Amino acid sequence: MPAPMHGEMQPAISRFKLGGFEITPIIDSKVIRPGLTPSFGGEAQADEVEALAKANRIDADRYQHPFTPILVNTGKQLVLFDTGNGSLSAEHEQLKGRLPPGQLVARMAEAGYKPEDVDVVVITHGHPDHIGGLTKGGQQVFAKARYVFGAADYDFWQKGENVREARKFNRELYVKIMTPLAARATMIKPGDEVVPGITAVDAFGHSPGLLAFHIESEGKRLLNWADTANHYVVSIQRPDIHLDVDDDKDKAVASRKRILDMVASEGILAAGYHMPYPGFGYVERGQGGGFRWAPHSYQLNL
Ligand SMILES: [Zn+2]
Repeated sequence: MPAPMHGEMQPAISRFKLGGFEITPIIDSKVIRPGLTPSFGGEAQADEVEALAKANRIDADRYQHPFTPILVNTGKQLVLFDTGNGSLSAEHEQLKGRLPPGQLVARMAEAGYKPEDVDVVVITHGHPDHIGGLTKGGQQVFAKARYVFGAADYDFWQKGENVREARKFNRELYVKIMTPLAARATMIKPGDEVVPGITAVDAFGHSPGLLAFHIESEGKRLLNWADTANHYVVSIQRPDIHLDVDDDKDKAVASRKRILDMVASEGILAAGYHMPYPGFGYVERGQGGGFRWAPHSYQLNL
């Protein structure tokens, strides 16, 4: 009897030490998207993006897009960065088939955590794939947590001025999910501390108030850039290329360049919500003002 085929199996949970902290990136879900073009660079830069894909041995016509919340246990508090897609696609007709169902809570259980263990939920920005897991059927999923929201992002989505057409439904969703949680939320700005060792960093652009987070324990440092750079080849080698889901494209480019430059100069570990799992890596300086992603191998395991 030949052995049965079991289908694909890929890691979705792992845990690392960062000084005295434990860091657990968890794949909430992932999706295969068609073509890097026109999402990255529009039709105008299709040839450049295709050449970039080819040079990096990836398919220009399909790409994998993971959604990776991160749990940080500081030893005193359990902090969750972003919440995945939750049941958004089941609850909203507009999102059917566009966002895979979130599996964060089930995978947290495999990693040893219950939703009520979470002390702080930090939302880097208000896009659906980051806020979708906050509530289920109108109920709060992380029932005992306090929330940390970016003040600028909260203001932007609440006011609803200058929301581009493609984000109109996102705005509705934001108001519906986030408004009832605001009473338990701390609104922060760049430079503010979430808990000792975790500080917000200005990454405005992809969303008007996107925050990155500097995480430090016993001299070990990690920059969780969330959605500052959303593809490990295109956004890093060519940070100048516009991405359709960046809300303020020029500001997104400026933030991307500044943060990549900082991570490269300081030689620190970076984490990105849409980077290939576990989403950790380093940034090297590349050609013509670009950079290169050097995925984490065993640096944190030593
Ligand atoms: Zn995202």
